[in-house]
Amino acid sequence: MSFDLSKLLRSHIAGMKPYSSARDEYKGTSGVFLDANENPYGSVGGGQYNRYPDPMQWEVKEHIAKVKTVKKEQIFLGNGSDEPIDLLIRAFCEPHRDNIIQMSPTYGMYQVSSDLNGVDVIDIPLTVDFHIKTEEVLRAVTANTKIIFICSPNNPTGNSLRREDIEKIITTFEGLVVIDEAYIDFSSERSFLTQLESNPNLIVLQTFSKAWGLAGVRLGMAFASEAIIKVLSKIKYPYNINMLTQQVALKALSDLSGRDKMVKDILEQRTELAKELLTIPYVQFVFPSDANFLLVKMDHANEVFEYLINKEIILRSRTKIILCEGCLRVSVGTKADNSVLIAEMKKYS
Ligand SMILES: *Cc1c(COP(=O)(O)O)cnc(C)c1O
Repeated sequence: MSFDLSKLLRSHIAGMKPYSSARDEYKGTSGVFLDANENPYGSVGGGQYNRYPDPMQWEVKEHIAKVKTVKKEQIFLGNGSDEPIDLLIRAFCEPHRDNIIQMSPTYGMYQVSSDLNGVDVIDIPLTVDFHIKTEEVLRAVTANTKIIFICSPNNPTGNSLRREDIEKIITTFEGLVVIDEAYIDFSSERSFLTQLESNPNLIVLQTFSKAWGLAGVRLGMAFASEAIIKVLSKIKYPYNINMLTQQVALKALSDLSGRDKMVKDILEQRTELAKELLTIPYVQFVFPSDANFLLVKMDHANEVFEYLINKEIILRSRTKIILCEGCLRVSVGTKADNSVLIAEMKKYS
């Protein structure tokens, strides 16, 4: 496998000069700041938000680097992981020429960002037991395939994809391989973060939205070689992560045991919920999950879904998705949430 990032990058992006913000040009933290047209008095509504935030979020990255054992230069922060998904497609895929590969059923944003950017999607669905058709994926690669998206643990199926299949793709494909690890904290599998050094084409996505309980602040992480991170930083909006988000992230990063405790509780509830679901007569199957949700196959899935909506219990219907016929996706709730769900499901017949 030979890998050349400069050959993959769209040429006009290689050649362009990024926006240089006031805070890029002067890096000191004390002084009389009259460079950024900010309000010198403070913020209407209270608080201290009148200064622009650090465009590169170095303090947050330093903390993440320690927690994840990577270099801070190997981290990109985005407005959710959806931002790096979009930026990767925009940086590397020429509209109406290039393509990406995904494996349905999977996370919807790879398709949406590709559609938005005029980039073709080659879909090589998973097997019926939700594993990668590795040989087919590699055979589907064309001269214009720039990125292969792999979601593991996969949404909406919940399982981790086989490590040897993923490794085969990383070491064979000469474009970029994105492994979306949004659910890695709930998984018994190891992260691919440790393989960054040996694989210059690898990008690992993680997020504060799930295990950290911070979906509302919008903070996603991409980990990759310094060269790939530089490309993403070059084309992002200058201040893509606001000050409030950076402050909340720093607070969260100082409470690792808080995260671990929540993950432990969710995993206990996942086991309990799966067991309870299987006692319901019309439930056919609960797929094994490495995530914080369960994919559940049942008789009359559409009717059960509507019945529960009327009881103000909202699940995610996946019945129209390939390989997920008859399936609803259930996020693991609190013990109380799960009890309400099970009680109502038992009333349906
Ligand atoms: C939830 C989820 C994300 C996280 O998205 P954010 O934009 O960070 O909230 C990413 N990938 C997958 C597969 C997900 O299910």
